[in-house]
Amino acid sequence: MRTVLLSKGKNIDSLILDEQVVPVPSQGEVRVRMRGHTLNHIDLWVLSGSPAYSVTLPHVMGSEGVGVVDSIGEGVGPDFSLKVGDSVAISPGQGCLVCELCRSGSESLCPSYRVLGGHLPGVFSEYVSLPATRLLPVPPSVSPLLASAVTLAGATAHQGLVVRGCAQAGERWLVVGASGGVGHLACLLGLVLKLEVYGTYGPEKKKTVLARSMDIPLISHEAQDWPETVMRLSGKPFDGVLDTVGGATIPRILPLLRKGGRAVVVGETTGAPTQFPTRELFGRQLSLHGVYLAHRSDILAMLNWVSHGDIRPIVSEVGPLTSIAPLQNAYRRMSERDFVGKLGFAWQ
Ligand SMILES: [Zn+2]
Repeated sequence: MRTVLLSKGKNIDSLILDEQVVPVPSQGEVRVRMRGHTLNHIDLWVLSGSPAYSVTLPHVMGSEGVGVVDSIGEGVGPDFSLKVGDSVAISPGQGCLVCELCRSGSESLCPSYRVLGGHLPGVFSEYVSLPATRLLPVPPSVSPLLASAVTLAGATAHQGLVVRGCAQAGERWLVVGASGGVGHLACLLGLVLKLEVYGTYGPEKKKTVLARSMDIPLISHEAQDWPETVMRLSGKPFDGVLDTVGGATIPRILPLLRKGGRAVVVGETTGAPTQFPTRELFGRQLSLHGVYLAHRSDILAMLNWVSHGDIRPIVSEVGPLTSIAPLQNAYRRMSERDFVGKLGFAWQ
């Protein structure tokens, strides 16, 4: 079977398409024949040698993927209701499953929380064998690539907007970085939730792609005065801001909120802020939430929206993977932010 392996160094050139033996499921594991994968920013952090994801080489890449149950190992409990041939999504993050946090559904807060592809071997293989507890049912009508897009990016958007942000129908929300994986899914989710959604994007060419998927006011955040433009368009402050860019934008997004508004930060791709608007935070009684990944309930909620056609993730296929080159090019595009939505590939 083919596996996407980071071989000798932590850079895109060290990626190879390796030939490996199909794994035999261990005790409590299920083997999945993978069908579709989507790329995540975690992959780039691994490829750049980030200390947050200090993997040992050689390392199997990838956090996001969907496939079908291929073989069920010994010791898989009766609570695993799926059978061979059923579609399954892989939950990228998992805690210890036994502590209070895990049992209450807040597993990403568990001290033992680890992410496939980031802390543990990833899922970019034709077959993977994983604990049955990591597998979630996927409605058969959902394509593997669309399902894969919500296992991490989509679930993070749900955790940020719904769980932490407590977004309510009729509220006005701004998504900063609407063209990215989490950002575009947050916009689409916001529309389903009947929010009034505004989005910002970078280069002008991304607007055309976004506008095909969502009918919302879109503002480029490349102009220095973009917050003023956003406020001029909206006419009044926002109930919430979901910021996928983080870092340098923090001082600029808090003034856009109404008194008591909520800011949810899910990333830091623009680096650390050089100043923090403390006065904005306490003076207008704002809430600031940090979101790191999501819980399996977020994945299931997003899969449900996708299966009913309410949310259609933007996924550009970069394959077929007859060589590693298409995937290397895809990661280069990601590192240059030259994409909209999600990039993905299927095994053929
Ligand atoms: Zn736990």
